[in-house]
Amino acid sequence: MKISAYAAPSAGAPLEPTTIERRDLRSHDILIDIKFSGICHTDIHQGREEWGQAIFPMVPGHEIAGVVTDVGSAVTKFKVGDHAGVGCFVDSCRECEHCKAGLEQYCQGHISVTYNGREADKETPTYGGYSTAIVVDENYSLTIPAGLGLDVAAPLMCAGITMYSPLHRWGAGPGVRVGIVGLGGLGHMGVKIAHAMGADVTLISHSPHKEADALRLGADHFLLSSDKEAMKAARSTFDLIINTVSAKLDLDRYMSLLALDATMVMVGIPEEALSLRTFTLIAARRSLAGSNIGGIKETQDMLDFCAEHGLGSDVEIIDAQEINSAWERVINSDVKYRFVIDASTI
Ligand SMILES: [Zn+2]
Ligand SMILES: [Zn+2]
Repeated sequence: MKISAYAAPSAGAPLEPTTIERRDLRSHDILIDIKFSGICHTDIHQGREEWGQAIFPMVPGHEIAGVVTDVGSAVTKFKVGDHAGVGCFVDSCRECEHCKAGLEQYCQGHISVTYNGREADKETPTYGGYSTAIVVDENYSLTIPAGLGLDVAAPLMCAGITMYSPLHRWGAGPGVRVGIVGLGGLGHMGVKIAHAMGADVTLISHSPHKEADALRLGADHFLLSSDKEAMKAARSTFDLIINTVSAKLDLDRYMSLLALDATMVMVGIPEEALSLRTFTLIAARRSLAGSNIGGIKETQDMLDFCAEHGLGSDVEIIDAQEINSAWERVINSDVKYRFVIDASTI
């Protein structure tokens, strides 16, 4: 079927209205009428071909929330009318040890990312959420629980799971001192989720203007990273730090904040390689780790957790005609905290 979408015709070109083809439903497919689609910084990197060769035209968007309007003959997980979401991938090899363990995001075979990727046939390009509908295998779709608004749920599909997965994996909870570095689309969800997990949460930022919002969102403390004395006083006091910053940063300064055996997990992706003094690691048996989104089961766990705790993203809803200016504002960190496209305007 032909549907409306917004696409970048070539690398760096402004997005414009177009039509794309969605496949007929296979037995395990569901058709989702998209209601809201979040704008992730990744969309901009790929739309501008900053991360290597990309596929054009490109319909970005991997924070998708909508309503199921049709189901294939063998579908059991969804029925018409259900609220459903799609995140960063729409298929994977299903056979490697990571896929079998529910860690599809680390698939060792062919993974079909939601856009700028190829379907299982390794040929057909995938088109993302800046569109009015999507056809997805039920096993790669998420159930958005009742009580979670589709607009505030959309960004959970990438930003939410990107933060939930490492917080869960590294044991955020009562008595655990968690630092979240950066208060953007990722960081603001990190503060909310870590707080709901019961952790003692500190937002770490170079901007003093972030303090009031950090505390409002659930942080217990605020640490100004440009304050040398405050950073010195905070040395060796964190059990876990999740670093969302995608700009070049001084790793040693942040790693020094970790207590004995503690870990800093990188989820932001700076373009340049970072350096770290080995002494910073061995001085307190510290670890540096990385984490990339989450698998389908964990993403569902995250959505259920967010529904239970009433957590959604703070969003600015925009019309599709504003996508290009919204991208500029994302680059300038001028959004609180996620743009969400109202798909009825596409
Ligand atoms: Zn994303
Ligand atoms: Zn796999």
